[in-house]
Amino acid sequence: MHVISTEDKEVVEIVRLVRLKKWFPVQKSFLERLLARQRIFVKAVDGVDLTVKKGETLGLVGESGSGKTTLGRLIIRLIDPTEGRIYFNGQDITYLKGESLRKLRRKMQIIYQDPYASLNPRMTIGSILEDPLKIHMIVDNREKAKEIVLNILEKVGLTPPDEFYKLYPRNLSGGQRQRVAIARAVILKPELIVADEPVSMIDVSLRASILNLMIELKNELNLTYIFITHDLAVAKYIADTIAVMYLGKIVEKAPTKTLFENPLHPYTQALFSAIPIPKPLHERTRKLEISGEIPNPINIPAGCRFHPRCPFAKEKCFREEPPFIDVEKEHYIACWLASNY
Ligand code: SF4
Repeated sequence: MHVISTEDKEVVEIVRLVRLKKWFPVQKSFLERLLARQRIFVKAVDGVDLTVKKGETLGLVGESGSGKTTLGRLIIRLIDPTEGRIYFNGQDITYLKGESLRKLRRKMQIIYQDPYASLNPRMTIGSILEDPLKIHMIVDNREKAKEIVLNILEKVGLTPPDEFYKLYPRNLSGGQRQRVAIARAVILKPELIVADEPVSMIDVSLRASILNLMIELKNELNLTYIFITHDLAVAKYIADTIAVMYLGKIVEKAPTKTLFENPLHPYTQALFSAIPIPKPLHERTRKLEISGEIPNPINIPAGCRFHPRCPFAKEKCFREEPPFIDVEKEHYIACWLASNY
């Protein structure tokens, strides 16, 4: 297991990704296949190096189409990578299969964005939550399973638990359904949870209560979260560290406070410029607007992949891809401007 020594404590890495890639082949017609000289790929994740510390919440942010969701699914081995390595607690899990992968699944769970689609409408809440206990053979009788489920329902605020136990997803609000999804994710006492936009489809008035529940559970159960969101306010609220993703790559990573006080990558600055700040409390000191859409991940620009939208792009940016380097403690960026910081 990789251990990082810092001045005051040892920090253990739970996840390490090395040059991780996921390229999806583009399906073409027969004629196109005959004429094509080479296969075409959507490069959803295109060489990600990333570490996640045990016990932290890593916010993974970026526009839609940046590859966040694909990266989350790769990490918990829901999909296979095209290239690169995934380490979990120091173990190479990149190509785990069969029983070994099934055992690993108990330690890694996912919470999906859509609380309406992620729960089986034909099952009661009790059955939905008992299912993982049966699959992973945690209990050998129904009474014990029910006791664990009632306990977890209480923990996620669905009370009285014996009433929720008998209900179906259709009887619940969006916020209550997401509490069930959270209960299902934590019932196996995992070590890592990938939460993919878990509050984006929930009424704004309920979002803080769901985030607070996730924070409470993290502290109580010693969880690590990879929290995927396009909403920087949500990331700021819940994340200890933020990694900014653009077109399949991490372009900046820093502790949340550092990133909000001193965003360095032009793309991060542009994302932050888009957050509304009430006037006249304070004016932004750094306002940067970018034009255009995120490019097609089939045709990733050469050099720095952000160069077609970057107001600071220089000749070198068109030709050479910038390395991901540290510019201050725990603050990394991939930009040729880094040499001036
Ligand atoms: Fe902009 Fe160049 Fe930095 Fe890329 S490397 S973000 S194009 S300045």
